Amino acid sequence: MLKGKKWIAFLTMFLFVAALTFLSRENGSAKRQEVWSNTMVDSGYEDEAPYKGKIALTFDDGPSPVCTPQLLDGLKKRDVKVTFFVTGQNVESYPDIVKRASDEGHLIGNHTFHHVQLTAANTEEFKTEIVSTNEIIQEVTGKETSFIRPPYGSWDKKYEKELNMFPVLWDVDPLDWCSTNVDKIVRNVLSHTKENSIILMHDSYDSTVTAALQIVDILQAEGYEFVTVDEILFD
Ligand SMILES: [Zn+2]
Repeated sequence: MLKGKKWIAFLTMFLFVAALTFLSRENGSAKRQEVWSNTMVDSGYEDEAPYKGKIALTFDDGPSPVCTPQLLDGLKKRDVKVTFFVTGQNVESYPDIVKRASDEGHLIGNHTFHHVQLTAANTEEFKTEIVSTNEIIQEVTGKETSFIRPPYGSWDKKYEKELNMFPVLWDVDPLDWCSTNVDKIVRNVLSHTKENSIILMHDSYDSTVTAALQIVDILQAEGYEFVTVDEILFD
């Protein structure tokens, strides 16, 4: 009987030691797993695209009551700042949207009050269109603007100093206002954008909002930084 009890005690001890050994091995394996996954995370950072430079998304003709808030939501999620060239009459209609865009860090620029072709206007109209838009932007946002996107890119340099306005043109134009094909708009922008590009879009279309957010996701992953136009023009 005694011999049997000793044998049972020995077997119990053996099983105990075996269990301890097994557990410590499991623990070691868990540690290796942890080290491996940390290495994977680290190498993930190393694989990140190198910095490719600044680019600016600009949106003309807004704000639009439905599309602009959707765009603002998407930009906020991605922590991306853009530039809106608004018409005075749309600021008058949708002041809260312009205030929101400005408060969220986007740059608000002038696109004339009634979307006029400035070079076809007489001197008085030219100035009134710009000054009245500046005034309503300042009234709504509390900030002065000195950036203008002249409609149709038509600008007369002789008023630049007097009005203290800086014209902002563009180098990438995907013609988003004449196509609802999101892929086509995205492809167009991707194939023309380079460092310091200024991209022209219009925040009045669902397709533009979808395309713009896809463009942000793709170009950010490629290493581009989205900034407001002042950071490109005065850097
Ligand atoms: Zn326009």
